[in-house]
Amino acid sequence: MSLLDKFDEVRATRESLGPIDPTRVVVERMLSATRAMIRGRETLLAGTNNYMGMTMEPSAIAAGQQALSVAGTGTTGSRMANGTHEAHRLLEAELAAFYGYPYAMVFTTGYAANLGVLAALVGPGDAVMLDAHAHASLHDGARMTRADVYTFRHNDPENLNARLRRLGEQAKRTLVIVEGLYSVTGDLAPLAAITEVTHQHGALLLVDEAHSVGVIGEGGRGVVEVEGVLDSVDFVVGTFSKAFGTTGGFCVSRHAELNLFSYCSRPYMFTASPSPATVASTRAALRLLRDEPERRVRLTKLCARLLSGLRQLGLSVNDMPTPVACVELPTREKALAAWNALLEQGVYVNIMLPPATPGNASLLRLSIGAAHTERDVDELVTKLGAVLADLNA
Ligand code: PMP
Repeated sequence: MSLLDKFDEVRATRESLGPIDPTRVVVERMLSATRAMIRGRETLLAGTNNYMGMTMEPSAIAAGQQALSVAGTGTTGSRMANGTHEAHRLLEAELAAFYGYPYAMVFTTGYAANLGVLAALVGPGDAVMLDAHAHASLHDGARMTRADVYTFRHNDPENLNARLRRLGEQAKRTLVIVEGLYSVTGDLAPLAAITEVTHQHGALLLVDEAHSVGVIGEGGRGVVEVEGVLDSVDFVVGTFSKAFGTTGGFCVSRHAELNLFSYCSRPYMFTASPSPATVASTRAALRLLRDEPERRVRLTKLCARLLSGLRQLGLSVNDMPTPVACVELPTREKALAAWNALLEQGVYVNIMLPPATPGNASLLRLSIGAAHTERDVDELVTKLGAVLADLNA
């Protein structure tokens, strides 16, 4: 048995997809924040996380260009060595002020933020209690810590309560982890109830707002704002790769210990910091997310339009209008066929297949953003309806 033999399984999985490989789609050229050339055709992008249309925002582009010309292409080092520039510190101060927390920390990606925060907070003898639908980066981070890892039923505070009770004394050394907006199903966490249960047991709560920061809440502070728990959650993590339209990750907190993470978090210590252009564009995006709430009002209207269109197709959707919706197909073959047919018609969505999906369902994930128009949303719904009708015919 050689190291390479295990790739037989990977090869078999790849071959089971047949001629359609949704993991190898090439964006040949971006046309705007919502359209690109794919397979030589102009395509509506309804499967990105560009929720606030920031990737093509002139002020964010200009800030990045300016930083490139004055600070260069990269920092060439980690935050703890040569990689902390003044701009990183300013971004941290601005993020802290945005949330109204005293402490903030910037990471190179959202994935690294989750690994980094978990590495600092928990270790052997401690426990991590994850919502069953939590993102892979949270599961990976939890596993890395060598703490005991448990899950509770998705969005179920009562089940969380029972699971924490069963931990006994260890509950006080437990980090509960949930997301704000779930990225595949588009539903929101009942954070007020989850926060209460967590603290009743003396545990701490971390909320990953990757898909909700900048998107949800009047001030754009995510589900923690909507659920009124800004003052009580312990750690909020997020990414710049969605609403901010750049790359990077962050953690903000009311706990002063966050300032000590830099001394004990290996995923923070041993990777290069975000480039000057990335930080500059992120700061420009944060200003817009903070100062122009009307963008969220516009997005909410588009989300409601999408949900009502999907309902008219007879699909079951979430009650709360969020930019993410998913459509379940009866088999993986039908999901692949639907995904490909949509792309052939110039609409790009995501496909999610078992075993990486909630309930092992075969799903199409649709997402929209503030840069879409009402016509874009209607085009998405009409073409999806036609593809689903063809499949059922
Ligand atoms: N958390 C969640 C919930 C995510 O969905 C993602 C990425 N999709 C991440 C973290 C990782 O973020 P990044 O892409 O910035 O590494």
